[in-house]
Amino acid sequence: MCSMNTQVRVRFAPSPTGGLHIGGVRTVLFNYLFAKKHKGTFVLRIEDTDQSRFVAGAEEYIFQCLAWCGLNPDESVLKPGEYAPYRQSERKAIYWQYAQQLIAQGHAYYAFDTPEELEKMREQHKSEQNPTPQYNHSLRKHMRNSLTMSEQEVAAALTNNTPFVIRLKVPENRLLSLQDMIRGEVTFDTNLVDDKVLLKADGMPTYHLAVVVDDYLMKISHAFRGEEWLPSAPIHLLLWEYLGWQDAMPQWAHLPLILKPDGHGKLSKRDGDRLGFPVFAMNWEDPKTKELNKGFKEIGFLPEAFINMLALLGWNDGSGQELFSLDELIQQFDISRVHKGGAKFDYEKAKWFNHQYIQKLEHSALLEAVSPFVPSAFHGETKLMERVLPLIKDRLTLLSDIWEQSHFFFTNPEKIDTEAIQSKWDEAKKAFYVSLINAFEQMSTWNEAAIEATFNDVVANHAIKKGEVMLPFRIMLVGGKFGPGVFAIADLITKENCIKRIQNALQQL
Ligand code: GLU
Repeated sequence: MCSMNTQVRVRFAPSPTGGLHIGGVRTVLFNYLFAKKHKGTFVLRIEDTDQSRFVAGAEEYIFQCLAWCGLNPDESVLKPGEYAPYRQSERKAIYWQYAQQLIAQGHAYYAFDTPEELEKMREQHKSEQNPTPQYNHSLRKHMRNSLTMSEQEVAAALTNNTPFVIRLKVPENRLLSLQDMIRGEVTFDTNLVDDKVLLKADGMPTYHLAVVVDDYLMKISHAFRGEEWLPSAPIHLLLWEYLGWQDAMPQWAHLPLILKPDGHGKLSKRDGDRLGFPVFAMNWEDPKTKELNKGFKEIGFLPEAFINMLALLGWNDGSGQELFSLDELIQQFDISRVHKGGAKFDYEKAKWFNHQYIQKLEHSALLEAVSPFVPSAFHGETKLMERVLPLIKDRLTLLSDIWEQSHFFFTNPEKIDTEAIQSKWDEAKKAFYVSLINAFEQMSTWNEAAIEATFNDVVANHAIKKGEVMLPFRIMLVGGKFGPGVFAIADLITKENCIKRIQNALQQL
């Protein structure tokens, strides 16, 4: 257990560049659960300093996804607290000031190298042992930067507006350690770290500088992020140290990757397309390519099920319990119980969660949840849908299954599987259905029990086995060998439609 003497403040810090991957939503969830458990604050910070990756609509989309999941931030662009602005592109001047401080202290330097010069450096120093030479403690000595140039040269370059970047001067031969809440102590060798750019030629900070400055200024106490950010940690550790903020450094937790179903590698958006499941929280249409990636929402997941499923990708409470409400998750969640190893994504299991949650949903809530998946022409038929839902609820795995499971209650089947009836069809059976129509016509009370009783009477009068005429009856009413209890269906579609469907089938046989 970590000590909670400080006010808990956590953050999700996405770069709004496209669809929100389930790995991102799980990062949100773990942050959110931790914040709520410790009566803390969940901050959403937009990390949009890479202008070349700006994607219209991506920021709004992130907010929509979090709202759908019910994981709304306490502080954000939409709900600014005392640490505004929450969009990094609006904090440019702040980063500039800290970059200058680092230069003044000798921990960062100007680099004036042109792209051609950088390319030449890579070519010249390439070797079998070192196929991709880095701008680091050794090579920086051969480059055009404020460490190799005289003071006058640097001053002249700056006055002439020569494009520059500011780089971190990563020291040689140091071991840096991080106490990760999931992984324990993780150590990095600075000889393997290059002199990362902190401020780009356009005056924008890179992620490395901005994340450290903002985590400090926004008083972030715990920073949870995906494992893919672990290699960046030594850069951040150096910045926390050089800026003199070490004592305020958040406690880190690097969350395990979400893996492909076969466990080989990180789950990517392409895997979803290939294997036929979503990897984004909500539909994402790339504004440039118009490529549409389906989301869990639109495919028919309930947000509660989606969240529950994600919570168990890399975490459990040790008891074997699988179904947790959000409140239970808040109570039970313990970041130190998150596994180190990657968590395999299992779409069948995800659907199992959804099925469970659909069964638990109250009727009025289910009615509302399925309505986006019902063709709009039938939206007025709420009364009928209210009666249909209890009959088919257990057949719904996705909310989008609703129409496949219920269309025949609302409209006559377009096609009837006559082939399935024909192989055992004969005059005796035909006579039975003709009598059945007659008997139905005479019924004054139309309900499930009365329909079955009439059906049984007609069976008795025809010396036919009930089992032989039940399946054709179902096929006549719904079109195929599916659906709930056939007498319940007959009841709900009305006597008139029931008779019409039998007549219609008889004409086709
Ligand atoms: N902007 C980073 C991202 O897109 C945030 C990483 C972090 O949380 O430090 O995921």
